[in-house]
Amino acid sequence: MRIIHNLDEMTETARGWLAAGSVGFIPTMGYLHAGHIALVNAAQKECEISVVSIFVNPLQFEQSEDLARYPRDLARDLQLLNATNIDVVFIPDVDVLFPPNFSTYVIPSSPAGRPKGIRNVGYIRGVATVTTKLFQLVRPDVAYLGQKDAHRVAVVRQVVRDLNFDVNLRILPTVRESDGLALSSSNHLLTPPERQAASMLYRALLIGKALIDGGERNAPVVEKAMTAHLQAESLIKLDYVTVCHPDTFRELDEVRPGTLLALSARIGNVPLIDNIIWNGGSWLL
Ligand code: AMP
Repeated sequence: MRIIHNLDEMTETARGWLAAGSVGFIPTMGYLHAGHIALVNAAQKECEISVVSIFVNPLQFEQSEDLARYPRDLARDLQLLNATNIDVVFIPDVDVLFPPNFSTYVIPSSPAGRPKGIRNVGYIRGVATVTTKLFQLVRPDVAYLGQKDAHRVAVVRQVVRDLNFDVNLRILPTVRESDGLALSSSNHLLTPPERQAASMLYRALLIGKALIDGGERNAPVVEKAMTAHLQAESLIKLDYVTVCHPDTFRELDEVRPGTLLALSARIGNVPLIDNIIWNGGSWLL
């Protein structure tokens, strides 16, 4: 396992791989868990070379307290990665990737996936810009992303399409705790009562699923049922619940195959997101 901090070294290394086979890339913000490792395992199975990046991207945090609170433990991350067969761990320094004179941003405009009621222009710009830079440096053939971050997936898809990146996107299912809570680097920040309340997020999605499985096709009806479930718990501060198109996050009137049920909430200080997709015959849970 080779650890690269330097951008030029990453570029040189990527150039050296041109004839060596396909490169699988897993961008992360560290504090790794089984969800990240599932992406690593898939890359190792499907590509000759695999690269993980660990970079807490300041651009995609709209609240500076969230950036300050974001958990970090590089020694633990490297230990976990060492147990896999990852070839390279790329850990760029924030002041080098975004130096003080940095001024070129990638800004997808609508419909790059902006959930209703959310003014997350900074998040979209942050994800689009860092993804562009990391793709330039690592030159992957395949990038591995988790379905858990459905909004991030929508933004990255838009960037890859719009900027003609020669990168295939592999979107893998969400890895969950036994009660359904999606694994997340911040889950350990939840107090025991908050952790209990957090399990309602997945249950709300299952309420939407049950309605659709029962034949309900009116999207606002599904959305209202999920919202009502979550509003019953005072620890949950909802950002949004949406029944929408997975690429545009545009709200739907009617549920049809390829519909995303997504939600975002805050419990205590911890931002949490989750989603499931109905493919017509089956569900991506
Ligand atoms: P992050 O470290 O939050 O930037 O996440 C890095 C990658 O891991 C993203 O593509 C996430 O979607 C993915 N990921 C995070 N949590 C999970 C999970 N519970 N299951 C599957 N993938 C995940």
